[in-house]
Amino acid sequence: MIVMERRRVRSWHGLEFTIELQNGWAKIGFFFHPQLANFFMRYGLPEKDRVEMEILHELGHIQMFPFVLAYYIPFYLSGISGGFEIGIATAGMFLFWEVLAEAYVFFKYRTYIEVYRKSIHPITLAFWAGIFVAVLVPLIVLILLSPA
Ligand SMILES: [Zn+2]
Repeated sequence: MIVMERRRVRSWHGLEFTIELQNGWAKIGFFFHPQLANFFMRYGLPEKDRVEMEILHELGHIQMFPFVLAYYIPFYLSGISGGFEIGIATAGMFLFWEVLAEAYVFFKYRTYIEVYRKSIHPITLAFWAGIFVAVLVPLIVLILLSPA
């Protein structure tokens, strides 16, 4: 596959690794995965912005890692147990991680708002609507199920 971009980065908690973008795939250190979220989020954006935002997004996942665990706190406090509930909470946690990684891009990429104001695609809007609902659903179910 063609390497589109390769960047050596260092996270605030001291991890040093290489981010590599290939055709629809990203490699963070040794972790190789399809660029699913980035595909929806960067749909129709100019190439230059897309590459920079994707690099920042992947770095954002590592930068935000400790904070994403906060998603478990309400579940932990309500005393969830059992594989199914933990599975639902973990699914929500992964989606919340997308939100945090993208928040990192938002704060780091100077022209973020400008870029999306010019060329946001309905596919990107639909993606975000879906993500927000999916992040909130496990929390809402938890509130509904917990005794008053
Ligand atoms: Zn992501």
